[in-house]
Amino acid sequence: MRPIYLDNHATTALDPLVLEAMMPYFTDRFGNPSSKTHLYGWEAEAAVEQAREQIAQIFGAEPGEIIFTSGATEANNLAIKGVAEAYLNQGRHLITVQTEHRAVLEPMAYLAGLGFEVTYLPVDSMGLLDPEDLIRAIRPDTVLVSVMAANNEIGVLQDLAPIGRICKERGVLFHCDGAQAVGKIPLHVNQMGIDLLSFTAHKCHGPKGIGGLYVRRRNPRVKLMPQLHGGGQEGALRAGTLYPPQIVGMAKALTLAVEQQPEEQARIKSLRERLWAQLATISGICLNGHPQQRLAGNLNVSFTGLDGSALVSSLRHEVAVSSGSACSSGSLQPSHVLKAIGRSEQLALASLRFGIGRFNTLAEIDRVAEVILLKTRQLLGR
Ligand SMILES: *Cc1c(COP(=O)(O)O)cnc(C)c1O
Repeated sequence: MRPIYLDNHATTALDPLVLEAMMPYFTDRFGNPSSKTHLYGWEAEAAVEQAREQIAQIFGAEPGEIIFTSGATEANNLAIKGVAEAYLNQGRHLITVQTEHRAVLEPMAYLAGLGFEVTYLPVDSMGLLDPEDLIRAIRPDTVLVSVMAANNEIGVLQDLAPIGRICKERGVLFHCDGAQAVGKIPLHVNQMGIDLLSFTAHKCHGPKGIGGLYVRRRNPRVKLMPQLHGGGQEGALRAGTLYPPQIVGMAKALTLAVEQQPEEQARIKSLRERLWAQLATISGICLNGHPQQRLAGNLNVSFTGLDGSALVSSLRHEVAVSSGSACSSGSLQPSHVLKAIGRSEQLALASLRFGIGRFNTLAEIDRVAEVILLKTRQLLGR
């Protein structure tokens, strides 16, 4: 038996309906969407443009505002470095949050090394940003604010609309890393005042290696410097032959997620509540992140007096979960997110992140709770 998969913030299983939509573009319809002289190119281009329209519609955007990338990491890099370079003569100050994904923090650190100034806003003990802190941080030379929609470790959902409003009033661009949020909560670029939105397919049952960036074209028209130069695809903002199977798969995955959103998120939330109700009986356990304002499928807990890596390793044959964020696990660094919400080093190291997804069942949740109750009892020696 393979372990029960509860690591849906790291990646998700491809939905069979998504694979089915992708298949023709791996085989007969293999054309290059940039080939303008024959059927192979035309049908590939038609598929890509239909996908672009579907995705744009989900965010309340125009098709021409969607740029395909290899994922959210590349989209974040394009947004952050692309804006920083394009607005050089307007200012060199950028603002982000301490709990962002490394795909935001690292481009910021890179720019800081080039002479940009970066402000890292704190969050409260629940993981939420205080809009007043943002207001105080904005300066005349601020060009970009980057705040994620949903945190990949503790699932906390930032209140985006007020952030968008603050940025708009001050003429600062607002980038949002939506990698974990897309398909799980409604994301509307105009209602939320988002100027740039990064997304990826593989966090919501689509294929890996494909994502995109929404770039606002009106009110204001966002300028970007390309980060990949080449054949001029995607309005010369992101060169490279488009990848139709992945693009079609992403559109299918996002469409399915949005169609199923209300019922499916309610089901997933009830599974999370059931898991938490059972785990909460463990002495010394605590919940990380806001109890309500979080992704339906996210549960992040810490155990007082327990060695986190011993726990994860004792679970590995039965439950696939992560401790801290997948990207930094193995390096034995306490999570920067848990530190930012004020967790001690011990609690930050003794954390488990559960990510519940479309294919998890109630029986799996009960089994996982049972295994964890047993293992923690053994490790705590009672
Ligand atoms: C997964 C993730 C990313 C990286 O996305 P890729 O498509 O894997 O590059 C960026 N930001 C957040 C919040 C994520 O969860």
